[in-house]
Amino acid sequence: MSEKITRRSFVKGTAIAGAGAAMLGLSGCGYKDSAKALAEPKSETYDLVIIGSGGAGLTAAVEAHDKGITNLLVIEKMPVCGGNSSHSSSGMNASETAAQKAAGIEDTNELFINDTYVGGHNMGDMDLITYMCDNSNAAIEWLGNHDIVLDNLAKMGGASVKRCHRPTDGSAVGLTLVPGLLANVQSRGIDVVYNQRVTSLLTDNGKVAGAHAVDTQTLQETDYHAKAVIIATGGFGYNRDMIRKYQPSIADFPSTNTPGSQGDGIIIAQNIGADTVGMEYIQTHPTVEQTTSTLVAEAIRGAGAILVNKDAQRFFNEEGTRDAVSAAELEQPDKFSWCMYDANVHDKNKACSKYDKMGLSKKADTVAGLAQACDLDPTALQATVDAWNAIVAGDATDEFGRKPQETVQPFATAPFYAVKIAPGIHHTMGGVRVNDKTEVLKSDGTAIPGLFAAGEVTGGLHGANRLGGNAVCDIVVNGINAGNHAAAYINA
Ligand SMILES: Cc1cc2nc3c(=O)[nH]c(=O)nc-3n(C[C@H](O)[C@H](O)[C@H](O)COP(=O)(O)OP(=O)(O)OC[C@H]3O[C@@H](n4cnc5c(N)ncnc54)[C@H](O)[C@@H]3O)c2cc1C
Repeated sequence: MSEKITRRSFVKGTAIAGAGAAMLGLSGCGYKDSAKALAEPKSETYDLVIIGSGGAGLTAAVEAHDKGITNLLVIEKMPVCGGNSSHSSSGMNASETAAQKAAGIEDTNELFINDTYVGGHNMGDMDLITYMCDNSNAAIEWLGNHDIVLDNLAKMGGASVKRCHRPTDGSAVGLTLVPGLLANVQSRGIDVVYNQRVTSLLTDNGKVAGAHAVDTQTLQETDYHAKAVIIATGGFGYNRDMIRKYQPSIADFPSTNTPGSQGDGIIIAQNIGADTVGMEYIQTHPTVEQTTSTLVAEAIRGAGAILVNKDAQRFFNEEGTRDAVSAAELEQPDKFSWCMYDANVHDKNKACSKYDKMGLSKKADTVAGLAQACDLDPTALQATVDAWNAIVAGDATDEFGRKPQETVQPFATAPFYAVKIAPGIHHTMGGVRVNDKTEVLKSDGTAIPGLFAAGEVTGGLHGANRLGGNAVCDIVVNGINAGNHAAAYINA
């Protein structure tokens, strides 16, 4: 299939996507606004249309509404809202926050900017990075003011300090963020239409004037006229053809993404002259269970999990950036490893129970038992665990450079767990070129009037590699940013 998705292929794809959503448990999670799911839109003319109901789209909707844009519509192509945002497993990076101060963590926006730039191989757009980091604390506060509390801190790969903010109980951030945003959308009476796939943008005299959508069930076509449009359609991590086009070497890897991540927003923006940036930068995540594409959250490594290869050896700094850990994993025998943790780490990370329920984790009361369950040499695994515990105790230096934070405890509390993992497609760093006002830019650097974009559909911010926790920061910071600038544009 080419990049252009035909109506017939899309309907087929949607059926698969619907099945995928059901498999992922989305249909029963209460995110679906069932009263409006298949209803006709009440009007075809709005002030603002937002395409995509993930974290970026819902945040933008709430902010624009609170800036006086009450005649707005969120258009979603799937039968449920949330996109990849629903599945965000760890948390949201932010610096200089109240939670950090309360925990005695010294962090600055400058350090966050530097980590993001270096983590992206010095290729990120400094204006976008600076905007995100400088506004990250305000975004955490904005969420708190909207009853979405992220105050449990974790350390993620490539971060100098603990700055990944999670729900108080340590659960996956997406399960708090998306329902919380949706509750704010609903309490404001903002309309969300589902099963409406936007296929093109409407223009009038060079200005964006709305969006054209196709109902994925009835194939009815609708022109949603609007004074401004925000594209928040996420990335293209579930579009094999685009992955093959931009990074063929990983095209056959499993993807952690939800089926809606097809890159539609990039294509419809390109079709009216938008520039793109960094399309070849596609991130693999090193801890993906391969039979189910389940992501083993990065916060679990931050909390103390180790990666062990087929020879029962550690082989890399588990807290390294995703691209580096993925590359190291692919050099191991049979290109996989085991993510191992003890009961301490398990009980701090709610996601671990999910892996148990899914039957993904091996469990044993002793290290030798875990080795047996994973078909590893027990003596070699015990030696690896002993060496790791000496590093945790501060009695040895890690040959791979890992410096476990003080909250990491020895791998010693039974039961012990292991999940077999390898790299999977996870994040598309490239996308539509924007400035720090979320205006979509043409290749000559000028903005397309009336068109804004936020979230994973945009490129440039993460450079060649995204740090864990930075995507959720991006969608909240720039969702607010897009809502503000679209409102100002409409009110001008
Ligand atoms: C398993 C997993 C775990 C992750 N964990 C973390 C984490 O802990 N921390 C972190 O920072 N990042 C994490 N990420 C990355 C992060 O979740 C995403 O980058 C982010 O949620 C993207 O948000 P978004 O709003 O831009 O897009 P999405 O949340 O993907 O939403 C886009 C929405 O647009 C809809 N859409 C697409 N095309 C159209 C169209 N043509 N018409 C109408 N609607 C359309 C989609 O169906 C979707 O609902 C994770 C990603 C995955 C997959």
